[in-house]
Amino acid sequence: MNLEILFQNALKIIENELSSLSFQTWFEDLKMVAIEEGKAIFVVPMAVHKKQLENNYYDIIREAFNQVTGTNFELEFLLEDELKKKKEEQKAKEEIQQEQGVPSLLGKKSNLNPNYTFDNFVVGNSNKFAQAAALSVAENPGKMYNPLFIYGNSGLGKTHLMHAIGNYILQNSNRKVLYVTSDQFINDFISINKKDASGTNFNYIDFFKDKYRNIDVLIIDDIQFLGGATQTQQEFFHTFNTLYDDSKQIIISSDRSPDDLKLLEERLRTRFCWGLTVNIFPPDFSLRTQILRKKILAGNFEQDIPEDVIEYIASNMGSDVRQLEGSITRLIAYSTIMGGANITLNLAIEALKDFISKGLSEKNEIARIQKVVAEFFQINVEDIRSKKRSANIAFPRQVAMYLCRTMTSESFPKIGTEFGGKDHSTVMHSVEKIAREMKENSDLANIIEKLQKDLE
Ligand code: ADP
Ligand code: MG
Repeated sequence: MNLEILFQNALKIIENELSSLSFQTWFEDLKMVAIEEGKAIFVVPMAVHKKQLENNYYDIIREAFNQVTGTNFELEFLLEDELKKKKEEQKAKEEIQQEQGVPSLLGKKSNLNPNYTFDNFVVGNSNKFAQAAALSVAENPGKMYNPLFIYGNSGLGKTHLMHAIGNYILQNSNRKVLYVTSDQFINDFISINKKDASGTNFNYIDFFKDKYRNIDVLIIDDIQFLGGATQTQQEFFHTFNTLYDDSKQIIISSDRSPDDLKLLEERLRTRFCWGLTVNIFPPDFSLRTQILRKKILAGNFEQDIPEDVIEYIASNMGSDVRQLEGSITRLIAYSTIMGGANITLNLAIEALKDFISKGLSEKNEIARIQKVVAEFFQINVEDIRSKKRSANIAFPRQVAMYLCRTMTSESFPKIGTEFGGKDHSTVMHSVEKIAREMKENSDLANIIEKLQKDLE
């Protein structure tokens, strides 16, 4: 409710209970300026008003406010000067808090991105364990798995999941949640030693402790960056212990497993394993298409994006979800620049040309092999990925499958999906067939050897 309306309504109630002389004398010049931290704050013209209202009218005003708002506000009466001073103090405090990012009860300073939720996190085989663990922690903070340690390559959704946990907890409880990256933790720790320029007595150490210990849930992203910061690690160790001993939930992410965090103190690594450690894997083809569809839906674009385009992106972009998202953005932008051209497979191929070759060399080994093999046999790479059975395509496809199996760590089923949705036994037979023929046919052996060299 609007502050002014609320105040006017309360005044009406008060007016009915008092003589008009009293009302005019004490309430005529009363101004309500704020409701803060459960307190209604008023400005009064003179000290005598302040005294009178505090001593004789407190209960009447409080009761009136209770009737209007259903809330038992405390009251505070201030002179203009006092209000000014209070505001200044508050501003200074807020500035420091802002700098330090002190979380408030309402979660204003939780640093959470409201766009990352469980609702828009697409679940598949590669991330379902991580998602389930995250949801259990969100539902039972501090109880189920403490700490929760999530690790996996870049762009697989670790940060998204962590924000989802935080948002869920904020929505379903009044716990205080704080999300920081380990970089930010380091910066905050370093700023403890900063001198306060104005000489005011704000205590940075207290602010640091308040920020990191006076919370219920600490989410710390990309912990691997704590590696080089020895002193900060010690501080983090204490923070961890304090929170842990209080059954406060700790959630950590990293690009590698606790065992591989070689630059981190042993005692930290051990603690990271006390709770649950979950690994997020790269999304398979099917999950990639689902994520793309979800992003397209959320994007609310004017044009439909056809299924063959989605599949094209999913099979060529590698597993970094950030790149999948980027390719949609790029595609839409491209179509707009082309005067709203229809989004077709051809347009997508054109729009994503540079993108895809980059994605290939970085991420998608299978697609890279397909491309090199297709070039060698002078056929279309799309055909290698299709279901076509003609011999001039089937044979190169078998060679490509063989190379995928021997040169990457991809599974038979994964390879199958990337070759026109073949099932894993077909892939196995193809691989065995090529291996057998290589022994009998030295030309084939030479071809394979050359392709292997090209690929390395
Ligand atoms: P990480 O922290 O592991 O590097 P992010 O959480 O930042 O990855 O994810 C990169 C982008 O991909 C984000 O925009 C995120 O929303 C999106 N993303 C990743 N995985 C999924 C998923 N399973 N469903 C929906 N979006 C996802
Ligand atoms: Mg991240």
